[in-house]
Amino acid sequence: MQRSCDFRLTHEQTIRTAVSCAGVGLHSGAPVNLKILPAPAGTGIVFRRTDLDGFAIEASGRNIARVSYATSLMKKGVLISTTEHLLSAFIGMGIDNAIVELDNLELPILDGSASPFVEMIQRAGIRRQRKTRTYLRIVREIEMREGDKFIAVYPADVYSVSYSINFPHPRIGKQTFRVSLTNGNYLEEIAPARTFGFLHEADAMRQQGLIRGASMENAVVLDREKVLNPPLRFADEFVRHKVLDLIGDLSLLGKQVLGAIVADRAGHAMHTALVSRILRDRSYWEETMVEDQPAVPELAVAAALSV
Ligand SMILES: [Zn+2]
Repeated sequence: MQRSCDFRLTHEQTIRTAVSCAGVGLHSGAPVNLKILPAPAGTGIVFRRTDLDGFAIEASGRNIARVSYATSLMKKGVLISTTEHLLSAFIGMGIDNAIVELDNLELPILDGSASPFVEMIQRAGIRRQRKTRTYLRIVREIEMREGDKFIAVYPADVYSVSYSINFPHPRIGKQTFRVSLTNGNYLEEIAPARTFGFLHEADAMRQQGLIRGASMENAVVLDREKVLNPPLRFADEFVRHKVLDLIGDLSLLGKQVLGAIVADRAGHAMHTALVSRILRDRSYWEETMVEDQPAVPELAVAAALSV
C-alpha cells in the first residue's frame, strides 16, 4: 500500500499506469468517463476534454472560473467542473504530474469523498521522477475577511490546515478540525469525508440545476434535525470535508504549500480568492526545495530533548 504524501518529498511524482472510472457529475447529473494517465515531470495536472478534441485546461489559478458550489476551471469558454476532490487526492498522495481525461464537463462525484480517487492512484501506483520538487513557501501572512467568513495563511515549515464551520443545525453546529499534512494522515483523516447537503435546500437547488446528480449514495443528506443516510464516517465529517475541499482548491497554486492555513466558514470562492491573491503578489512567497534527508526519527528527538 502506498503511503500518502509526506511534505519532505524531494522529487516530483506521477502515477505508474493509466486508471479509469465512470460516474455522474454532482451538479450536472451528466454521465462521465474519467481516466488518469502518467505525465512527464514539469507537466503539473492537466485536464483534457476528450469530447472536445482533447481540449486541455491546466489546473492552475489562471483558469479559475466562477465558483459557488464547486470549483470549476475555464479556458477559452470551455468548462471543467467540480475539480476539487480529485485535486485534493493528488495533493494528499503527492502526485505532481498527471493528465486527466474526461468526456463531459464535470468530474464524477463517486461517493462524494476523495477516497475513490485515492484508491485509483493506489491502484495505478506512484512513480518518483527525476525532477526536484519545488514548494511554495509562504513568507508573509495574508488575512482575508468577508462578513463573518475568514481565511488566512501564515509562514510555517509544513502544510497545515485549521478549519472551523458553524452551521445552525443540531447535527453540525460549530466544528473545528486541525491537521498537518504529514505521515499519511490525509488518507485516513481527510479523504473519506463526504460532501453534504440539506434536503430543505434541495428543491431550490435542483430547480437552479445545481444538484441534478445528487443522491443518498454520493452525499451526506440532512433534514432540519438529522442525517438521513447514517452512519457518518466521522462525527465531524462536515468540517473534514471542508478541509478536503480547501486542499483541492489550494492545489491551483501549482505547487504544494508550506504554510499554516486558517479558515473560518470559508468556501470555494474564498479558497480560490486566496489562491489568486498569493499568485498575484510574489512578495508573499518563495519557491523552495526540501532537504534530501529523512525526517529525524521521533526517538532521536526524544533523546535529544532529555539531555
Ligand atoms: Zn467538496
